[in-house]
Amino acid sequence: MDTNIVWHQAAVSHQERCEQKGHQPAILWFTGLSGSGKSTIANAVDRMLFERGCHTYLLDGDNVRHGLNKDLGFDDNSRVENIRRITEVANLFADAGLLVSTAFISPFVSDREQARELAGDRFIEVYVDTPLEVCEQRDPKGLYKKARKGEIPHFTGISSPYEAPESPEVHLKTADVVIEAAAQQVVDYLIANGFISH
Ligand code: ADP
Repeated sequence: MDTNIVWHQAAVSHQERCEQKGHQPAILWFTGLSGSGKSTIANAVDRMLFERGCHTYLLDGDNVRHGLNKDLGFDDNSRVENIRRITEVANLFADAGLLVSTAFISPFVSDREQARELAGDRFIEVYVDTPLEVCEQRDPKGLYKKARKGEIPHFTGISSPYEAPESPEVHLKTADVVIEAAAQQVVDYLIANGFISH
């Protein structure tokens, strides 16, 4: 890094931003297989929080890959860089005082731990735990079909590993609960841990 770049002290403090918003910022880091329900549940959570008057933003995997990360592929190095950039962006949103949700497969423990380290106490890992068979049956984008035919290299769950979280803050078993109930579980966590008020 250029040694002439010095961090500038902000005129508006983080504390002031939080007071203005009326809630604590957080990064809800949704992780799970493709088709597990990350986007669907993160969107439902985003809607619930928004309707409570919270200031929120959702960073969705596919959308980010259309812009900020469109130069990246799906090999291991690209996936690491993908997550690194997302973490930095999510952290900026949280710094601005928002409840930010991220919906990316983020298959590697090491990347999620890196995100946790950077975000600190406000990092909330949400494991969207859906069995591969169920994801494959849902196949909302037809990707599993293609991956089984060998048309998509490095496809998580098929030809690339998914390392499940060992102790996520929120564990959603979507094969057992409907979308609304899963989203409510996330909101309940935020209330129970003082990020938002009842
Ligand atoms: P991801 O973002 O993890 O790739 P998506 O949210 O795009 O997954 O797709 C999940 C699909 O599964 C959606 O079509 C959704 O409607 C469906 N689905 C069915 N039951 C559930 C559930 N209980 N929770 C989440 N998604 C569900």
